[in-house]
Amino acid sequence: QVTHGSYIPLVQSEDRVLRKSAFESMYGTFDKFKNTCAATLSAQIKAVNFYAKARRYDSSLEAALDGTEVPVSVYKNLIEAVHDNMHYMYDYVALRKKLLGVDELHFYDLYTPVVPDADMKITFEEAKETVLKALAPMGGDYLAILKEGFENRWIDVYENEGKTSGAYSAGARVHPYVLLNHKDTLNCMFTLAHEMGHAIHSYLSNKNQPVVYSDYVIFVAEVASTCNEALLMQYLLKNTEDKKQRAYLINYFLEQFRTTLYRQTMFAEFELKINEMVAAGESLTAEGLNELYGELNKLYFGDGIVLDDEIKLEWARIPHFYYDYYVYQYATGYSAAIALSQRILKYGEPAVKDYIGFLKGGCSTDPISLLKGAGVDMATTQPINEALAMFGELVKEMEEAMAE
Ligand SMILES: [Zn+2]
Repeated sequence: QVTHGSYIPLVQSEDRVLRKSAFESMYGTFDKFKNTCAATLSAQIKAVNFYAKARRYDSSLEAALDGTEVPVSVYKNLIEAVHDNMHYMYDYVALRKKLLGVDELHFYDLYTPVVPDADMKITFEEAKETVLKALAPMGGDYLAILKEGFENRWIDVYENEGKTSGAYSAGARVHPYVLLNHKDTLNCMFTLAHEMGHAIHSYLSNKNQPVVYSDYVIFVAEVASTCNEALLMQYLLKNTEDKKQRAYLINYFLEQFRTTLYRQTMFAEFELKINEMVAAGESLTAEGLNELYGELNKLYFGDGIVLDDEIKLEWARIPHFYYDYYVYQYATGYSAAIALSQRILKYGEPAVKDYIGFLKGGCSTDPISLLKGAGVDMATTQPINEALAMFGELVKEMEEAMAE
């Protein structure tokens, strides 16, 4: 049975017939409800635009970003920088097609791993040990907090009856609590590094800020978690000799870039466009939304993939379009995290000092200034361009690794 929960695992399957069927079944069902979905989305965007106008903002974008003091230019810069680096994604699509050995690459071929059977079995004890080693560049103070958490039951590790799914860090003032559903996989080791990034961010902000300034905003939250993931990935790549495992790691990293940087920016662009349509008095219909969504997929994935009719309906199953300009923060946060991890590895102690200062900052000033203090200027396109250049390098490395 295809459900929201089973859909992604099904399209990740190595069985092409299975992933094609899951894809058709999912979007076939959404097709039956497309007019309802369009009416619902239209109402949401109209509401957001009404409030922005009533509060005398120039646009719904300005209204949404003003809440956390992010300038509109940050949002537009992101889209512009990704547009300038679209060729890397086209290279990746071409490589994927080649590695899967298919005549035509379809949208249901995007999620399956191109390096089969190389997943690593990593116990929780091993994951903790590796994360400690990988985060060593963060310095003694950071590691001491990490160890304190590991040794003093901050983490509820395994799945249990009645326990919620996924992973989460709650920044309580006593000390943070982390919820995991650990399975012995590579992905779960990354989740551990990610959630401890949130936990230590909360720990340091709570310790160093008065209550009103301790709670950081989403724009910076995912930087602290993703920077740990980036350091872990760079540590693993440096210390993995086995060629197949290395290729598997690069594939994992490439997929993170695809789903976080490109895909979320495509969502952000779609959201901006439908808001502009509503502001201009146009109505949002299923046909219009499908057409726009199809065009964006063509732009983001290029001619190397068949533009399946089904994918045009993807907008209907993304709940984030109801979160009022939320998704762009995944892409900006990821870019900032990549830039900061590079800086920490390159410059060591002074870069770490800036970064720890940022982790202690909570919401004591606006997020752009906080990140500037850490050493990355999100008011420019530079961090996004650099992150995308790294993606380009990784595509090249993957091509070379798989040629051997
Ligand atoms: Zn997170």
